[in-house]
Amino acid sequence: MATGWGSLLQEEQQLEELARQAVDRALAEGVLLRTSQEPRSSDVVSYAPFTLFPSLVPSALLEQAYAVQMDFNMLVDAVSQNAAFLEQTLSSTIKRDNFTAHLFDIHKQVLKEGIAQTVFLGLNRSDYMFQRNADGSPALKQIEINTISASFGGLASRTPAVHRHVLNVLNKTKEAAKILSNNPSKGLALGITRAWELYGSANALVLLIAQEKERNIFDQRAIENELLARNIHVIRRRFEDVSEKGSLDQDRRLFMDGQEVAVVYFRDGYMPSQYSPQNWEARLLLERSCAVKCPDIATQLAGTKKVQQELSRMGVLEMLLPGQPETVARLRATFAGLYSLDMGEEGDQAIAEAIVAPSQFVLKPQREGGGNNLYGEEMVQALERLKDSEERASYILMEKIKPEPFGNCLLRPGSPVQVVQCISELGIFGVYVRQGKTLVMNKHVGHLLRTKAIEHADGGVAAGVAVLDNPYPV
Ligand code: ADP
Ligand code: MG
Repeated sequence: MATGWGSLLQEEQQLEELARQAVDRALAEGVLLRTSQEPRSSDVVSYAPFTLFPSLVPSALLEQAYAVQMDFNMLVDAVSQNAAFLEQTLSSTIKRDNFTAHLFDIHKQVLKEGIAQTVFLGLNRSDYMFQRNADGSPALKQIEINTISASFGGLASRTPAVHRHVLNVLNKTKEAAKILSNNPSKGLALGITRAWELYGSANALVLLIAQEKERNIFDQRAIENELLARNIHVIRRRFEDVSEKGSLDQDRRLFMDGQEVAVVYFRDGYMPSQYSPQNWEARLLLERSCAVKCPDIATQLAGTKKVQQELSRMGVLEMLLPGQPETVARLRATFAGLYSLDMGEEGDQAIAEAIVAPSQFVLKPQREGGGNNLYGEEMVQALERLKDSEERASYILMEKIKPEPFGNCLLRPGSPVQVVQCISELGIFGVYVRQGKTLVMNKHVGHLLRTKAIEHADGGVAAGVAVLDNPYPV
């Protein structure tokens, strides 16, 4: 398998000129971020970092990732409806992880009161890396599934034009035509639209829960624009605004500034630092309402690393998706090794193995947003510290995936154009809508390829480590 663009990467001067053209095209296409200096304002913006060339991805793996997405949608939805499974799975974690415990408390409160919401909307992104099987064939291995704030569906629809441009400049028109079109933001908006319609109130709004400082606003705007084109109005509010101006009526309909809300779309609320006591109150208010939450609290919990690890245990997929052996087989084929660190023999053994062979494992806490996992010597130190404490149950261990590195240029504002060794991570966006017990929409709606230099073990685009890319199918 060829891994790259070969001699094209050797012409330093040509790369610089190409990069200038690529950056200008990216700006023209709207591949934008606000700057870290002015994250609240769109007065000054720059391009979102991206690769100069699309990165080679085996077509078979792309197809496999697309084909399994509807299965993952169903699985997440099944987990979110299975209160007993969530409770059992998270019982040891919530004793030691305050954030998960807080989410779980809200989940319990809503269950006790009775769930007012009747329409459910999932917008998720399942992420994968590629690695070789023992026989040399390439394999797709899931890193995680994001069930809240899965981002970059908007910017990912604008990057194909940039890579086609680069290849056209090089007179590689046939290659340019191979770059797949991609429009996740449209698909995500169609899911929100369906949920909004089923909610059934012509004047109700979509409430986007936004952060005060949001560099990635253009990604979100892409979805807002699609909704407005369908005559669905979006308001952006912070948790603080909800706690000041949000209310429920006696039927638990949600009102914001006096206007009814049909769908709440979270682009905030996935990290502990995003919650003050006031924000937790606001989250509870939203969860208690009959508005469609994307995601509802149970679906957020279904996306925890602990749930991911338990799903890989023998018999669990079969229990959650009874009578669907083919679905189960497709899902399981993408699972890497996942190990519980709950107190007991199984956890003891996993810890012992990771301490002996640290390069084979990743230690993960129940966190989202990148930069939280531990690798190598740091992981060993953490395991030594944790191994006799119940705190270890708030982590899981995962087999480390080892993709084959390839050369590409990572273009970032203010950084020199140079070829570095990289690895990629593929994400597939999934959308589903359920009304009561009936799944009325289940789709994949596009992809995201992110690429980073091999020296960074962790982190995505928002964390400043990975950059936007496109798969070049081979
Ligand atoms: P987060 O929720 O913080 O995004 P992830 O599980 O996606 O957590 O991990 C963050 C990053 O760490 C991933 O984007 C990937 O680059 C790297 N990573 C995570 N799990 C593995 C793994 N099993 N093998 C290799 N790299 C991994
Ligand atoms: Mg991730």
